[in-house]
Amino acid sequence: MSLRFDAVNKLTGDTDRFSVDTPAKISAIFGENVFTLKTAREFLSNEAYKSLAASIKDAKRVDRSVANQIATGMRAWAESKGVTHFTHWFQPLSGTTAEKHDSFFTLKSDGMPIEEFDSAALIQQEPDASSFPSGGLRATFEARGYTAWDPSSPAFIMEIGHGKTLCIPTIFVSYTGESLDYKAPLLKALEALNKAAVDVCNFFDKNISRVTATLGWEQEYFVIDEGLANGRPDIILTGRTVFGASPAKGQQLEDHYFGSIPERVYAFMRDFENEAYKLGIPLRARHNEVAPSQFECAPIFEDVNLAVDHNTLLMDIMDRVARRHNLRVLLHEKPFAGINGSGKHNNWSMATDTGVNLLAPGKTPKTNLMFLTFFVNTIKAVHDYADILRAAIASAPNDHRLGANEAPPAILSVFIGEYLSNVLSDIETRVGEKFDEQDEAILKLDLHRSIPELMLDNTDRNRTSPFAFTGNKFEFRAVGSSANCANAMIALNTIMAETLKHFKKDVDALMDKGDKKEIAIMHVIQKYIAESKNILFEGDNYSQEWHHEAERRGLPNVPTTPLALDAMVSEKAKKLFESNKVYTHEEIEARHEIELEKYIKKVQIEARVMGDLALNHIIPSVVEYQNVLIENIRGLKEAGLPESLYASQLEILKRISRHLQEVYTKVNELIEHRKIANNMTDIRTKAIAYCSDVKEKFFDDIRYHADKLETLVNDDNWTLPKYRELLFLR
Ligand code: ADP
Ligand code: MG
Repeated sequence: MSLRFDAVNKLTGDTDRFSVDTPAKISAIFGENVFTLKTAREFLSNEAYKSLAASIKDAKRVDRSVANQIATGMRAWAESKGVTHFTHWFQPLSGTTAEKHDSFFTLKSDGMPIEEFDSAALIQQEPDASSFPSGGLRATFEARGYTAWDPSSPAFIMEIGHGKTLCIPTIFVSYTGESLDYKAPLLKALEALNKAAVDVCNFFDKNISRVTATLGWEQEYFVIDEGLANGRPDIILTGRTVFGASPAKGQQLEDHYFGSIPERVYAFMRDFENEAYKLGIPLRARHNEVAPSQFECAPIFEDVNLAVDHNTLLMDIMDRVARRHNLRVLLHEKPFAGINGSGKHNNWSMATDTGVNLLAPGKTPKTNLMFLTFFVNTIKAVHDYADILRAAIASAPNDHRLGANEAPPAILSVFIGEYLSNVLSDIETRVGEKFDEQDEAILKLDLHRSIPELMLDNTDRNRTSPFAFTGNKFEFRAVGSSANCANAMIALNTIMAETLKHFKKDVDALMDKGDKKEIAIMHVIQKYIAESKNILFEGDNYSQEWHHEAERRGLPNVPTTPLALDAMVSEKAKKLFESNKVYTHEEIEARHEIELEKYIKKVQIEARVMGDLALNHIIPSVVEYQNVLIENIRGLKEAGLPESLYASQLEILKRISRHLQEVYTKVNELIEHRKIANNMTDIRTKAIAYCSDVKEKFFDDIRYHADKLETLVNDDNWTLPKYRELLFLR
């Protein structure tokens, strides 16, 4: 019997799968596996505690002299919880997380066995880095890279089965200092933003000395039965289905969205949530999404660095916990054709150390001017660097979403709602108006009254926008569900830093000419609104009209990854990242190469899987059914029936034979084109070839014929689990 029928039968027999221990209160387990400052207080000396707290607060290095004490304290805490091993935990550019476990256990020179964890082990490690992507930065003979402790993200204990490992979040850099991960440049971008934003904040409030960017991600995902998934080599190897006829029912009834959560999935959710809570991941929301078997979870927002760590950690946990429930979680951006894909909305804002959310309209005219400043600077940043933001979310799987009329298109635009649109155009139309008195600008524009404090209820929602203001934060919606949010966050925070630096310069220049501060600020805001209003769009981003309109406005629209990535290595991008000390020229070139390489490999694997499924599953199924038909036709003919009485069988036989020929011929052509692409030496040309000559030319076409076959061939002969089973059976 095929895996397919096995899995379907097993599903109905499998009943003992809903039991999950639920804590009486989440707060009772929250953070219990994290070396929080509260834990540190307990396990560290006063001196070590203070040093650690200060380094977390100001994102500074920990003083080496107390690092040993911190390491010892961490080990004592970890051992009290049954931990035997530790690892540096990092995020290499392969897109997963990496760990190499070492035990605390060691043998002293006299052979004495003891447990040990010193500052050297805490602060730095040298994993063999030769197999991580480096984009040519690190020739393989110099395979060494090192990981270095990031004290701003607390150490945690990862429990896998009965094994417990102390994980130290680290950056990963080459021996010559180039970053090889997502965290190192992210920390740099956040520092650039901090500096630039504090300077601008000080126009309004001299007490502000630190600005942190905040992130709340909304993770969408699919959940399917593991047995059924195992019957689909495409899901196992690529995370998505490359074939599959649409079932009679898809998402058209919209009965899944916000519906009651299926019990088996609900058990899985509670299970991974409990693991997340223990690790201090502040999950808050869970619900069904639009497509069948699609769900979402979202945490309370945190500072960006921590939020990114928590998201990557959670993706790991979800995958692991799903297997405990004989489920598979699919984080791919487009696991199923014909129904919605998954994204990861990045809700983003900036907060001051005085407790102000810089994207929340304030209570007084003055704080409203500060809000307007950061609000307009964000719009300007997206306007000036839309291509760089686009590049930051480009990936093979995300190409299936962007522009597929269910997710934001590849054209970046900003939605701010009718109310704020009116405020901005009101301000802009007063260009040239002279403001003489210090407060006159504010009075004239009636800022206090024109921006209500509770914007939350006043911003209309536009679900089609890739970058929307939602009351007290912007929501970058084009980020892919499987992406490390760091990529989007590096770009967003860097372009914001750059824009704010210019803003400060522009305001200073006007003040040098004698403008009073508020008036100078108003004038620069006016100028920025005029320069960037092109990026504002309130309408339907899926519509064809918008595509024409965007083209008329000159907004970039690059639908495929290999070309979208060009913006990473433009002179503009290099200058941007270099002047903000986020990437050097070499680093950005290397990253570009890595992204292209990833793209090629993903499409290559999908192409191979298509060939494999066609030749080893689909064609054999069809041939079996052909034989049945042939037997049948022959029999009827022998029995002396006229042809008119077996014409239908003949017709089916002809149709499936034609589709089979198409599948076979096109798969062979696909293989030929893959070979041609494989021989290309220039990586960009090769990626473009994989995109247009392999993927675009063949994938949909082969799929069309294969899916037709699925609808024509006897259900018993079909070996691959079907969409209706994958999406509706749990
Ligand atoms: P939605 O309607 O889009 O689901 P929610 O109100 O549920 O919006 O919020 C989505 C996410 O936005 C949550 O993770 C929330 O913590 C986050 N969020 C709220 N305020 C901020 C902020 N100031 N900065 C960053 N993220 C925020
Ligand atoms: Mg949202």
